[in-house]
Amino acid sequence: MATSPKAKAPKNSPIRPWKREPGWDKLAPGEEKRLEEYCADYIDFISDTKTERRVHDHLLALAKKQGFQDLDQVARGKTLLKPGDGVYRSMDGKTLLLARVGKAPLEEGLNLVGGHADCPRLDLKPCPLYQDEELVLLDTHYYGGIKHYQWLAMPLAIYGVIIRRDGTKVEVAIGDGPKDPVFCITDILPHLDVDQSKQTMREGVRGEKLNVVCGSRPVSKEKEDKEIPQKAKLNILHLLRETYGIEEEDFASAELEVVPAGRARELGFDRSMVLGYGQDDRVCSYAAARAVLDFQGIPQRTMGALVVDKEEIGSYGRTGMDSTFLPNSVAELVAATQKNYSDLVVRRALEHTRMLSADVGTLADPDYKGANSDGNMGRLNCGLQINKYDGHGGKGGASDASAEFMAHVRKVFNDGKVVWQLCELGRPDVGGGGTIALYMARLGIEVVDCGVGLLCMHAPWEIAGKLDIYMAYKGYAAFLANA
Ligand code: MN
Ligand code: MN
Repeated sequence: MATSPKAKAPKNSPIRPWKREPGWDKLAPGEEKRLEEYCADYIDFISDTKTERRVHDHLLALAKKQGFQDLDQVARGKTLLKPGDGVYRSMDGKTLLLARVGKAPLEEGLNLVGGHADCPRLDLKPCPLYQDEELVLLDTHYYGGIKHYQWLAMPLAIYGVIIRRDGTKVEVAIGDGPKDPVFCITDILPHLDVDQSKQTMREGVRGEKLNVVCGSRPVSKEKEDKEIPQKAKLNILHLLRETYGIEEEDFASAELEVVPAGRARELGFDRSMVLGYGQDDRVCSYAAARAVLDFQGIPQRTMGALVVDKEEIGSYGRTGMDSTFLPNSVAELVAATQKNYSDLVVRRALEHTRMLSADVGTLADPDYKGANSDGNMGRLNCGLQINKYDGHGGKGGASDASAEFMAHVRKVFNDGKVVWQLCELGRPDVGGGGTIALYMARLGIEVVDCGVGLLCMHAPWEIAGKLDIYMAYKGYAAFLANA
């Protein structure tokens, strides 16, 4: 075993214990104003973009406004991209790459920050509409890890797309407009819940019970149809035809998502937090995209924000990160930046890429101290979280970042005056989770998890601290420019 070089610090330098503390005092003069402005933008963003498609469309519109070009078209054309040029690449209107070309050749690698835009929710089933008793209901299959009981007896909105028989597309967004109706899932009254209250929280409200009430008014006499005895359902079918021009079979080619209705809000007397739907992981993916869009000048290394789909159900499918989207995008970038395309350059670019897997972490919750990983637990508004590893039970399924890469990220954050904290998800034996990091690491990319801590993650309304929200933006910007 080799001996290590002698420590360089002089013996009389002061001892500096590492402290996890609220970051407000570490803000530069005037920075708190920028923090509030950024958080106001963020609150508007998550209030308006409650599906992955809406996140994609919103960010793409911002990029196009700044002159970002379609990478696939550039790569097929004759002109090469120049350093400083902005490009985007989109998959199915759900997954998006925003990139700025750097001065250094691509084979030296990219700086990437990747988050996801899909969130836990209730998807309508392929045959959703039915009537039972006097109610018309929509049958759902939940998406991602939800606690079923949290979705009952609250206002809900429906977003998504329906492709009609003739191939035309209709967008649905109902429940958040000031005059819109909302939707709701029923719960049993406490007077009659003797059976339910004896069950575990998981069994008490089964996934099959997550049926969304969407109507009850019977169809008028003149529209009655002997074939359809369920008059209230028939009425809804009439309304759907009048409003969206659809018939019942059109649900076959639809993606409709039931989400909480209502805007995100500032939380607390001191307005130090944000309560909103879908902060896992729009708090990170928005920060990543904004960091690329707001960057001024020409970056040294090519930088990119990845906003991906399907993370909550395992990153599968062609819009998930366990797909060809990123390697193909890097290949297109190589084709668009140099005369002679080479697969070897693509592989070299991937192996030299540095990346933050930008996903949310958890926070110490005074009401659930039993889950805390004591000294390694994230604390609210103590800064952007770095998670060296995630996974569960003995780091199972984790992409464990190297000490060398941790040192690199730490230096970039310290130089950029980013308030950050070291975390793990929670006690090793109480649970766990994963992100897109392992799919990136598989491509040879150096990657570490780094994101905002949340309270009540995956609940219809999640809590994030404003300082942490802003530090994600500041930290990702520092990483993209200087990693
Ligand atoms: Mn997430
Ligand atoms: Mn999640």
